[in-house]
Amino acid sequence: MRITGIEATPVAVPFHEDERWAFGARQGMVSILVTLRTDEGPVGLGEAAAYPSADIVLAVLRSIEPLVVGEDPFAVERIMKRVNVVGTWHHVKSTSPAIGAVEMACWDVVGKECGQPLVNLFGGRVRDRVEFFYYLSRKPPAELAADTAKGAAAGFRTFYLKVGSDDPREDVERVAAIRDGGGPDVRIRVDANEAWSAAAAIRILTEMHGSGIELAEQPVSGRNLPEMAYLRQRLPMPLLANEASWTRWDQLEVIRHAAADVLSVDNQMDGGLLNLKRSAGMAETAGLPVLKHSLGELGVAMYAATHVMAATPNFTCANQSYASLLTDDVVAGVDALPYVDGCLEVPATPGIGVELDDDKVARYAEAYAKDPSGYAFHDPAAMAKTPVLPKF
Ligand SMILES: [Mg+2]
Repeated sequence: MRITGIEATPVAVPFHEDERWAFGARQGMVSILVTLRTDEGPVGLGEAAAYPSADIVLAVLRSIEPLVVGEDPFAVERIMKRVNVVGTWHHVKSTSPAIGAVEMACWDVVGKECGQPLVNLFGGRVRDRVEFFYYLSRKPPAELAADTAKGAAAGFRTFYLKVGSDDPREDVERVAAIRDGGGPDVRIRVDANEAWSAAAAIRILTEMHGSGIELAEQPVSGRNLPEMAYLRQRLPMPLLANEASWTRWDQLEVIRHAAADVLSVDNQMDGGLLNLKRSAGMAETAGLPVLKHSLGELGVAMYAATHVMAATPNFTCANQSYASLLTDDVVAGVDALPYVDGCLEVPATPGIGVELDDDKVARYAEAYAKDPSGYAFHDPAAMAKTPVLPKF
């Protein structure tokens, strides 16, 4: 079997409400859906987040297509080596979502051809469902309490809030409201996206811990690992590395510096599902749990990673999802992905186990074509709002 071509379709799906982090916001998300065609029939699906932009993902896909066409889709390692070494794409991160989407589509072909769900090709089921968090959009405390109660009633157990706003007292009040709304049993995770100095992080997180914090995600710069190690010794809650741990090389450094208690890992930021498994294995060897980061994903990417997380023991913390923000999805049979108790069931059908809803793909491709920058990462107000980091 040989790969004959790659097709890419950018789609833009709106959020119910804006996503807001320490230095930006967006109204929806863009993914590039990848279809990998083969000469013998099976078609593979993949998905890349539009990171850092849809244009870059599309350019990378165009550039690597000649390296992939003619290859056997079963030869995943060889194809990735060819892309990274022959294609000189071994500088990672900004090129990784596109490469990872092609790798994902190869696995989909392999699973379909073998008649096996991906979970069986990545080690078999350690768990039948994979847990995700509930993403709370930053807003006034009373509304946050109500949103948390809504998420808890829907079965979610872990709640995630972006902090690092200009007034830390508001962050502390918001976290207290989440505890009020969710009750004593919910887990609260806060992510400052590197907004704080170490001194600010210690001061603010110690105060927040009165409400009980599950994990403090990347409170300070991810490029200063000794500072993270310093912070880890002084915080009352475990420290989660995110911007410090995009790739396997980054993760190795975090482990070497003893700079985090939990690592976030991401197949899109590190070029594939095999690398997601590798990241988790490296952390497991170091005695650390992992969770999957998300740049915002639709059903193809969500389910592809769900197979690997179901087959890998140390995905023990709730993973990232945009379930609470997305208004719709592009996989057939669902308006939004079917989370039960905050978990996704691992598909039992061959490959990733999803099919695209052609009408929805057409609708959201049109939405992207109409306003390509409408749902992008780039927030023109961000620099005006946050001229200086870190916040002290
Ligand atoms: Mg983060």
